Amino acid sequence: MKNSERDFDRDLSTPSSGSGCGPGWDALLQMLRDMRDGSDDGDDAIYVALVPNQANSAYLGCGGGGPYAAALSGLGTTFAQEVGHALGRMHAPSGGAVNTDPTYPDYLGSPDGGIGEFGFNTSTSDVHDPATTYDFMGGDRPRWVSPYTFINLKEAMVEQFRAINISLVAAPLPHETLHLRFRIHRGGQVELRPSFHLRTTRRLDRRRMSGVACELLDEAGNVLAFHRCHVLSLDQDPDGPFVDYSESMPWLDGATSIRFIARHQILHTHNIESGPPVLDANRSELSYGREPIELAWNAHRHDEQETTSGLTYMLRHSVDNGKTWRVVAAGLTKPSYTLNPRDLRGGENCCLQISASSGIRTTSIQGHSFTAPQSPRKAYILSPDQESTFRSGSPVLLRGGAVCADFGLAEMGDTVWTSSRDGRLGRGFQLVTQ
Ligand SMILES: [Zn+2]
Repeated sequence: MKNSERDFDRDLSTPSSGSGCGPGWDALLQMLRDMRDGSDDGDDAIYVALVPNQANSAYLGCGGGGPYAAALSGLGTTFAQEVGHALGRMHAPSGGAVNTDPTYPDYLGSPDGGIGEFGFNTSTSDVHDPATTYDFMGGDRPRWVSPYTFINLKEAMVEQFRAINISLVAAPLPHETLHLRFRIHRGGQVELRPSFHLRTTRRLDRRRMSGVACELLDEAGNVLAFHRCHVLSLDQDPDGPFVDYSESMPWLDGATSIRFIARHQILHTHNIESGPPVLDANRSELSYGREPIELAWNAHRHDEQETTSGLTYMLRHSVDNGKTWRVVAAGLTKPSYTLNPRDLRGGENCCLQISASSGIRTTSIQGHSFTAPQSPRKAYILSPDQESTFRSGSPVLLRGGAVCADFGLAEMGDTVWTSSRDGRLGRGFQLVTQ
């Protein structure tokens, strides 16, 4: 569990052109993918983004194509649906949802995509009528959960959080991993998108296979590695104007080109840069303390002394002297970053690493190791708002918790609510008081 703020400056209001959730939301999910791909988390990690709900947006959320979910904050059933997608669940058939689940049950006495039986909210005591309530994986409202979605989500969680998946972290790979991103337009043109290679841990890829493959070639044209690509997400229409791919495959230093193949035909051969970018940073300045710090570095392409355009950067953090890493920021296009120590764990063996990619080829610099303080949990009240007023005796839903990078989220039983007037109110992440 990690909780931190990230700057994200893309426009979320542009609707989809037929593939995905529009360029803004797609870029946000791509940032989550880069962050997870560059981090040595277990296979059980799910990356989620909560967007401030004042954001001007074409959609309420987007999720799936692996363990990724994003939504405007405060929308419980929307967020639940995106996390459902992140766990591989398709849409329930209501509200004109696309990519619906063909095995969704036809509950007697419920509309299409209904919940099939009465639901009860244990914190608000609200009752949900199966004749007028829809499953949260569909589009119609009001929404609650059906037994079908409940059981399937439980099974997906058991699978995702199995001990064997978490233990994969312990198995380091002999080579770096290439995290390859590309787009295939309807006419077959291949557009390479910012990619990178790093030493990262191996993970299972549970996505469905696509009809596309790619391979790394050496100077003489020999195939060094062949890789079958996956369907990125159920939001992408294969007949749309383009389809995006995001793949992780072995990286081999002798590779000079990448070949893209669909249905036994070579679509495109991309020449890899002849050398990695040149990256320069002061290793002793790559550290932090109690205050936010402005990090800066210099980089240019291998073959051009000055040009910095086309470079993307990733900042990673380690608390074990570089044995395992976690991404702080990914997809940066400027050679600087303001680091907030609140977002990072402390310890005696911290270090930071900057990576620069010129498309495929990647250079990394690791800073000197340093000691950073651990920070205590901070409490957050999510509802009610500070300005809310309530009639005396009416129910008030309290929601909140305490979290920090070093110690994660406080347990439900350790989260205590007290009032200056009534004293102790109770424990938990949510609770109804009067
Ligand atoms: Zn959806």
